[in-house]
Amino acid sequence: MKERPLAATLDCHLHSSRSDGVLSPTDLVDLAAREGVRVRALTDHDTLEGIAEARAAVARHPGMRLIPGVELSCDVPGTEVHMLGLFVDPEHAPLLTALERMRRTRVSRGERIVEALRGLGAPIEWARVREIAGEASIGRPHIAAALIEAGHVANIDEAFARYLGRNSPAYVERERLLPEDSIALIRDAGGLPIFAHPPFTDGYVPRAEAMAAAGLWGIECYYRFYTPETVEALTALAARLGLIASGGSDYHGAGRDHEVLPGGFEFPARAAEAFLEATSAAGARIPEAAR
Ligand code: AMP
Ligand code: ZN
Ligand code: FE
Ligand code: FE
Repeated sequence: MKERPLAATLDCHLHSSRSDGVLSPTDLVDLAAREGVRVRALTDHDTLEGIAEARAAVARHPGMRLIPGVELSCDVPGTEVHMLGLFVDPEHAPLLTALERMRRTRVSRGERIVEALRGLGAPIEWARVREIAGEASIGRPHIAAALIEAGHVANIDEAFARYLGRNSPAYVERERLLPEDSIALIRDAGGLPIFAHPPFTDGYVPRAEAMAAAGLWGIECYYRFYTPETVEALTALAARLGLIASGGSDYHGAGRDHEVLPGGFEFPARAAEAFLEATSAAGARIPEAAR
């Protein structure tokens, strides 16, 4: 086991039960507060529906601030880019319409995955997946939970390795969204687009270059389990492209390998300050906590 990294007081990447995280927006805020996080984002997949609840919860923690956000999965040939949109206006109609469409396509895609699983001898009920997801934006982790429950796999990592991962037999693509389109969507909603966990994307350097030209604002340089070499490579890339270094835990509470708690990653204080200064310079305002 690695030592627990320094506790970050700024965490720009967190998931609640409104997408594939386990905790409600309220419980997630309370946990982040206990972990010493002062400024935090909510970045559920394809939905802003947890923001109002998270805002109300943050208001109960004096001095804590919430950055409204979202995470969009974008397709590029052979790989994926995840785009965080921080500081988006949670009421922006075109963004809400686009997110609604993406959530609908997640439903039809989920049904197709369940069909494929049946053909692979790992039957689960679609109704059960819906139940597990509840009000959440449906994702593969909900299908993984149903696979575990049915005894087809032992844990979420096995579910992705055997069935659900991009190169696994039950993988079905979502409706395509190009990184450039997601950047435009986020910018249009007043948000700052950030390339999430670049090392999960094959060939992330040329991708980052192309996205920088298309209006990308930042790169997630600080993240759970990054080695110092990875952080160094990413901060150098951000500096070269004139992009801001962001950081987040990507906490889901799903008991996956390598999971850390909110704030459980290294985000050097100077880098976190520079990030917040850059958001102000970009005109983004972190709403004051209501007292
Ligand atoms: P989806 O939004 O349905 O495409 O699912 C994407 C989510 O699945 C990611 O945000 C992760 O939370 C999770 N995920 C993706 N790949 C893996 C993997 N190999 N092992 C465990 N979880 C994964
Ligand atoms: Zn997720
Ligand atoms: Fe992601
Ligand atoms: Fe994420």
